Amino acid sequence: MTQYEPVIGLEIHAELQTNSKMFCSCSADYSNAPEPNTFICPVCTGLPGAMPVLNKKAIEQAILVGLSLNCSINEFNTFARKNYFYPDLPKGYQISQYDLPIASKGYLDILDDTDNPLRVVVRRVHIEEDTAKLSHEKNYALVDFNRAGVPLLEIVSEPDMRSVEAALSYATKIRAILRYLGVNSGDMEKGVLRFEANVSVRPIGSSELRTRTEIKNLNSFRALTRASAYEIERQIEVYENGGEVVQETLGWDEARGVTVSQRGKEDAHDYRYFPEPDLPPLQLDRAWIDSIKSQLPELPDAKTARFISDFKLTPSEAQLLTSEQALANYFESIVAKSKSPGKAIHSWIAGEFMRYINDSGLALDEINLPAEKFAQLIDMVTDKTISGNSGKIVLNEMLKNGGDPQEIVKAKNLAQVSDTGFIQEAIEKVLSDNPKEVEQFLAGKETIVQWLMGQVARATKGKADPNVTKELLVKALDGKRK
Ligand SMILES: [Zn+2]
Repeated sequence: MTQYEPVIGLEIHAELQTNSKMFCSCSADYSNAPEPNTFICPVCTGLPGAMPVLNKKAIEQAILVGLSLNCSINEFNTFARKNYFYPDLPKGYQISQYDLPIASKGYLDILDDTDNPLRVVVRRVHIEEDTAKLSHEKNYALVDFNRAGVPLLEIVSEPDMRSVEAALSYATKIRAILRYLGVNSGDMEKGVLRFEANVSVRPIGSSELRTRTEIKNLNSFRALTRASAYEIERQIEVYENGGEVVQETLGWDEARGVTVSQRGKEDAHDYRYFPEPDLPPLQLDRAWIDSIKSQLPELPDAKTARFISDFKLTPSEAQLLTSEQALANYFESIVAKSKSPGKAIHSWIAGEFMRYINDSGLALDEINLPAEKFAQLIDMVTDKTISGNSGKIVLNEMLKNGGDPQEIVKAKNLAQVSDTGFIQEAIEKVLSDNPKEVEQFLAGKETIVQWLMGQVARATKGKADPNVTKELLVKALDGKRK
């Protein structure tokens, strides 16, 4: 059987976080509108004679994104009308950019499915406007123009990805960058970030680009992953049965887990693009672009590299922390207030802290644990005031109910004991309660020491210093030889 590889390109639609819409002064904060059709005016509802005016902030944000994706920023921009009819598009066309987009020819470095570096070429980044929102009721549909005209960025990649995992990794990284830049909340449930995947398959070793299909409106990473995987399998099956893949636009049926045909072959000329007569060409000033460049924050890749070298973290440890800017900032504020090494602080965040976040379903900004308190707790474990296990108990208590680590340790009587008499007593009891395990040790099974350590920890409720315990335990066991 022929072995196939997928060829995937992504188009990402990201709403920009501006105060007003792309071409009028209406509020762009449509998700907080009091009622449908309240944030509207003649421009965004497409009334005849209404004139669009460009939103400077949106242009600035688009330039930030272009620069972050290593694109060249095009100083000469034009806008175009993309004509199509749909009830959510009041003008009968969308104002977009066609032959002269704001940014082009960039790239983004990601890790592919085998954790190897992959450079995905970003073909273009252009500005357009969002459509209105339709809600389909039983016998009718309602239209809400609050979203119509909200600034939208389209980020188009070349078909450089060869696996669903690579596409996911690219999409995840774009989302992180947009959040770092503060231009998009990344809140996929609100629809502020949507993906479109172009998928084709070809025999491994071939370099041809075969007919592709486009899966529209993927509103979550899960939908992106499932829809692409489904489409790859479907196309392979078509070829294996001697058929041909048809170029078409597909939708994703989340409930049934299948792609469904929406429209047939669709090319640029179908949209009858022509220059937008109501907006003059936009000439960007080099000095302005340079001043925007100077506002660029430290982006995930640079931060990851710095964390690796400053805190002796592995790449994957550093990446976990830099995946969200807020998490990276939290880590750095704990580091600043703690005497413990960065590596230890990473372990506390990656382990118990992330587990709590995942289990509770809370977002990072809903966690009320000041970096200073977290630092104090980690230091208490580092200087052996309490054991690692007790540290976890204290952390969970602080996450749930707040409080001061020292007081919690006192209240719960968790302070670690290195008093040898107390530990010695516990060891003797464990050894006399477990004669079979002692026999096994004497017969040469040295790994049983770990198990016995666990028993001592349990008997002392985690308060025995593990190093002292180990030393005394080994001595006691050696004493039983002969
Ligand atoms: Zn408006």
